[in-house]
Amino acid sequence: MTKKSKLVVAENVEQAYQKYRQLKLEVDAWRQERGSYWQASLSMSDESPYLPISDLPQDAIIELWQRLNLSAKVEINDSDLWEMWEQLKSGNNRMEAEMATRLQIAVNGVAKLASQTVNETGVPEQKWNPRSSEHPEKSVVACPVCGEISTLAVLTAPDGKRVMHCNTCNFEWPVQRTGCLYCGSEDSKKLFYLKNEAFPGIEMGVCQVCGQYFKEIDGRMLYAADYFWEDMRTLPLNYATERWIEEQVRKDNQIN
Ligand SMILES: [Zn+2]
Ligand SMILES: [Zn+2]
Repeated sequence: MTKKSKLVVAENVEQAYQKYRQLKLEVDAWRQERGSYWQASLSMSDESPYLPISDLPQDAIIELWQRLNLSAKVEINDSDLWEMWEQLKSGNNRMEAEMATRLQIAVNGVAKLASQTVNETGVPEQKWNPRSSEHPEKSVVACPVCGEISTLAVLTAPDGKRVMHCNTCNFEWPVQRTGCLYCGSEDSKKLFYLKNEAFPGIEMGVCQVCGQYFKEIDGRMLYAADYFWEDMRTLPLNYATERWIEEQVRKDNQIN
């Protein structure tokens, strides 16, 4: 029984991966053909976030989204896409899941042009404040390029330097080597690392000081060509971590 359900999960993951991979190849083709055109039209702010998602060229997003729809053999008019896009912006999302996924991949594909620009022109170093007093829990994990929150850290080869990886625009930036990424606590007794043998090279860091968790991929043990997919594939670890935290909270309440 258990074996069978494990197999089904594995097959679903494999299928999902094939679909995802096809879309990713389409994004790569689009970037080859259209990337430099759109890249030239980006206007970056001189403070972080340099190019928030809300300021990305919408025509580029629609263009890529439509291309992904074609690749998935979904026929839809540009005007319908614009309408869905407008609805989404006004906080009204009734899109079907696969349509929403293609949109997300399109947004990421366009956002990647921004991080590419920042990487090419050099990061305006330290212009962003790693831990501002206003939002100490968010500032270090908000992507300096697109402003989205990252929960994924990578220990890079060869020396284990820790960087945050943005799953939206792919930008990476250095962060403190140890301790909690959210509150900065270096108290190792209050930082727990959870792992599961099904996912070697990945740990979930849980901080008891601020109650938040993050995922950490050890790039020295696990080579991942695509961190977005790696994060998706290992979502069961996030669910397990959330359950573990709930359980701890429940126990604490019983003791007190
Ligand atoms: Zn980003
Ligand atoms: Zn913390």
